[in-house]
Amino acid sequence: MTSLTPHHVLQKYFGYDTFREHQEEVITQLLAGTDAFVLMPTGSGKSLCYQIPSVLRDGVGVVISPLIALMHDQVTALRENGIRADYLNSSLTAQEAEQVQGRVRSAETEILYVAPERLLTPSCQRLLTDTRIALFAIDEAHCVSQWGHDFRPEYLKIADVTRRYPGVPRIALTATADDVTRKEILAKLELASALQFVSSFDRPNICYRVQLKDNGKRQLLGFIRDEHPEETGIVYCRSRKRVEDIAAWLNREGINAVAYHAGLPPEERMAGQRRFAREEALVVVATIAFGLGIDRPDVRFVVHFDVPMSMEAYYQETGRAGRDGDPADAWMLYSLADVIASRQMLMRSEGNETFKFVQQRKLDALLGYCETTACRRQVLLRYFDEERAQPCGNCGTCRDGGGASWDGTVAAQKALSAVFRTGQRFGAQYLINILLGKEDERMCRLGHHRIKTFGVGQELSDKQWRSVFRQLIALGFLTVEMDRRAGFALTEKSWPVLRGEAIVRLREDPVPVRRHKKKRRDIDVTDIPASGLWEHLRALRMAIAQDLGVPAYVIFHDKTLKEMAIERPTTREALLGITGVGEKKADRYGDQFIETIRNWVIRET
Ligand code: ADP
Ligand code: ZN
Repeated sequence: MTSLTPHHVLQKYFGYDTFREHQEEVITQLLAGTDAFVLMPTGSGKSLCYQIPSVLRDGVGVVISPLIALMHDQVTALRENGIRADYLNSSLTAQEAEQVQGRVRSAETEILYVAPERLLTPSCQRLLTDTRIALFAIDEAHCVSQWGHDFRPEYLKIADVTRRYPGVPRIALTATADDVTRKEILAKLELASALQFVSSFDRPNICYRVQLKDNGKRQLLGFIRDEHPEETGIVYCRSRKRVEDIAAWLNREGINAVAYHAGLPPEERMAGQRRFAREEALVVVATIAFGLGIDRPDVRFVVHFDVPMSMEAYYQETGRAGRDGDPADAWMLYSLADVIASRQMLMRSEGNETFKFVQQRKLDALLGYCETTACRRQVLLRYFDEERAQPCGNCGTCRDGGGASWDGTVAAQKALSAVFRTGQRFGAQYLINILLGKEDERMCRLGHHRIKTFGVGQELSDKQWRSVFRQLIALGFLTVEMDRRAGFALTEKSWPVLRGEAIVRLREDPVPVRRHKKKRRDIDVTDIPASGLWEHLRALRMAIAQDLGVPAYVIFHDKTLKEMAIERPTTREALLGITGVGEKKADRYGDQFIETIRNWVIRET
């Protein structure tokens, strides 16, 4: 073992001054040979927890990760920091893999990334037997869960491998784990005795907003143009068809967008991922298939064009925004049609009754979140068992108000009664027409213009009734029939309302508030006195990144570049004082950046 301490490594290689929450404890445990389980949100700095002990312990740190597409960039980023990293996956030629194995055998490699299917091959098994192993890190550990949509069967066999190395500490990491998944991870990876590190789920830099959809595409375009021009973001849609439709439309409207879903040919998916990693301002329109492996730190917005199926999915997907800690938006659109569609989708899904029951509860929570008049962050965190005393000040409700709530009991009674008296098989528009007393030919034929509820709802408008029905479905007072007509039916929660024994609180639909933001260039530099310098530094970074064939953030993050533009370091020492500049990068690029800064200072001041 070297004489360096974890803190030295943090400064020397990564250019950071202080550890974040839990990092140092986790590192100390691994150095002492103890297993660890780390559940921390995206962007909280999990990677350092295994990278630093891999450098400090004798032998190679073996990192098992399903993110093949990212390995190249991850390894390049480590090497740029002066850490000898390698990877083994199917993208290497036999000869390249041979060379990697050579470096591992000769103890040259400090960190080795391996795809799970690769880990299980006999040749990799032989390699590990011949090698001194510093630790095993199992990244994206929730992939072991058969219930989740990231399930990887190879993950179930990881424990068979690690069991053969009893003295080697193991660390499992994930950003997504409700209680069930967490238990599954600990059991299947045989980590029952691991120390657990769980940090707050809060992502304070993400602003959570939900809006009613009326003309979804126009709203989306307005949101991107007004608030995130020339920025990178992800738009999640439910179906492949919609993904393609919206991506094509955004392109026609002059927004640089690309479609991504599992139905595209592999080459096209790869190309999409590459563009996402490299391009400065790109909107990816995708199904949930686009997820695992989104490592880009500067995603400024995540849009849900359709509602997701659970709070877990919502949290995970929105979590891809703002990993760099700068402000980011999570913006969701939803409507009565969405609520109906998500309920129907769940009923049609595969799985036994218990499974469906659990999924139903998860969807209920998400729809309740959509309809809340409270601070969204409080509701979100409470779902993950975290109480937060004060409203957050950085969500749609805290900023724009949540919409007043009103006593909707009588309206609910009228609506439920209309459902019941028409035989529980009609959808919103027909029922609303009955409530408003608007008869049509079909209604007369069926005799529904003579029922007691006909015309009793004229105190509300068509639009308000839609809001009532949407909320009744979201809150579980009504359910949706499975057939294509999407008729509504009563639930056990309906009867107490009809009997006058329960109160229903509804909310007025809030009027959306439009925000405007200036062009990206003006924004990013409002806090930088020398915005011209910032442009020069960005151009230099881009040139270096293109030379190396890596994303710009692998060279320096925006944050580091901004700090340089503000501090204007002109010596190596001063440069090392900038967050994110380690010794290796100072050696490699220091002169170029210092020269750019000097020239600018001479010219402009
Ligand atoms: P996670 O794997 O938890 O999503 P990462 O390990 O990718 O997060 O880290 C997110 C970002 O935070 C990275 O850019 C990383 O360099 C940075 N980071 C990690 N630890 C620190 C620290 N102690 N100080 C400053 N930045 C850090
Ligand atoms: Zn709030």
